[in-house]
Amino acid sequence: MHDVLIVGSGPAGVGLAAACGAAGLDVAVLTPDETLPWRNTYGVWLDELDDPALLATLGQRWDDVRVIAGGATIALGRGYGWFDNDALQRELHRRADESQVIWYRGNAARVEPVGGGARVVTQEGPSFAARVVIDATGHQPALLRRPLGPRVAWQAAYGVVGHLRGAPVPAGAAVFMDYRPAEGPRGGRERAPTFLYAMDLGDGRYFVEETSLAAAPALGFDVLQQRLELRLAQAGATIDAIGDVERCLFPMNGGIPERDGCVIGFGAAAGMVHPASGFLVGAALRRAPRVARVLAAVLEAGVSAEQAAGAAWQAVWPPDQRRRLALYEFGLAALLRMNQATLGAFFAAFFRLPPARWHAFLSDRGTAPGVAGTMLRLFLMAPPGVKLVLLLTAFREWPLLLRAVRGT
Ligand SMILES: Cc1cc2nc3c(=O)[nH]c(=O)nc-3n(C[C@H](O)[C@H](O)[C@H](O)COP(=O)(O)OP(=O)(O)OC[C@H]3O[C@@H](n4cnc5c(N)ncnc54)[C@H](O)[C@@H]3O)c2cc1C
Repeated sequence: MHDVLIVGSGPAGVGLAAACGAAGLDVAVLTPDETLPWRNTYGVWLDELDDPALLATLGQRWDDVRVIAGGATIALGRGYGWFDNDALQRELHRRADESQVIWYRGNAARVEPVGGGARVVTQEGPSFAARVVIDATGHQPALLRRPLGPRVAWQAAYGVVGHLRGAPVPAGAAVFMDYRPAEGPRGGRERAPTFLYAMDLGDGRYFVEETSLAAAPALGFDVLQQRLELRLAQAGATIDAIGDVERCLFPMNGGIPERDGCVIGFGAAAGMVHPASGFLVGAALRRAPRVARVLAAVLEAGVSAEQAAGAAWQAVWPPDQRRRLALYEFGLAALLRMNQATLGAFFAAFFRLPPARWHAFLSDRGTAPGVAGTMLRLFLMAPPGVKLVLLLTAFREWPLLLRAVRGT
């Protein structure tokens, strides 16, 4: 029986396996194939990465990062980067291998209790036991219950890496959000807001992605693709050659699953996606060492497996983080009520907040009172249309605010 069995080998699972190994735990990872490359483009704010070796795995960095919203171009003054996924994967695997993490191949089918821990049974037949099992199988976890009902909002995006004629973004820049409307073929510009997320990759290569920050139900890839093409045409840019296409779809507010005995979650499976941005990787890499230290300490202390899982779950989701999540979900509920113009005005106000405030809001570092203070400040400085939506949301979504106070 291992100390910890991590199920899934995405960035969250491998990041936590490396951290648990470094904390001296006997760790195994169960995955269909740990060598499969990570295909998503993973963006991160540079100041979110305080581990220099992980910072060194970035493949692209931009100092000139902009938001175009509410009729203005706002220079963010905050460095942003993309991981070189192969380099990140190599670095995390190197760390895992250094502490003898064991890799098992298979698809987890179910989990059953055994004396002193739990046993994960695979679809292929073999089973693996550990004192604590960590489900890191992504947004729709294999072992934990996380039903995604009709109220769940989805982030959807259609993006292209390619050679473009005519620059969609200024040289050397990253446009984090361009909320100018791109009129879609299915309805007016007020329906289903989307924005452009675009980067200059050098040598005439660009990444351009039309993104629906959140919508319930999700916006279709066909609509996003058509809007992207229209937007590029409006900017006088055409795609000469397509390298990669990214189709992105994941839930923004699927909630926190319940711990199941000795089974807890981590990463997207634990509902760690930031409901205001959809980001997760930076936060998962930052939280992994803390969770690993807690697990190592409690297992060393000889508590029961269930108590150990409970303590680790508290480290994944401390009460203050739960309060913050409720506040973010309130914010998301407000965003879902906004049309393209109101969203543009909202983000223009948001990115004009004092940098320390919006930096903390979009990171894993802030506290619930800090997030509440930022929201209040934003409310006070927001234009009337945005204020109205925020007030309406407070009226309709007061249970979320109550949850933020109670931390449940
Ligand atoms: C296209 C796209 C772009 C994104 N861009 C960003 C971004 O820029 N920045 C950011 O922070 N976030 C981004 N996200 C959101 C989020 O960070 C990713 O979804 C991220 O991959 C989640 O990491 P994870 O390790 O929790 O899960 P995943 O990466 O989904 O990994 C899950 C792992 O579990 C394994 N698995 C699944 N089922 C089983 C099973 N039954 N048994 C065993 N193993 C199993 C899978 O093989 C995989 O190894 C993006 C998401 C998408 C879809």
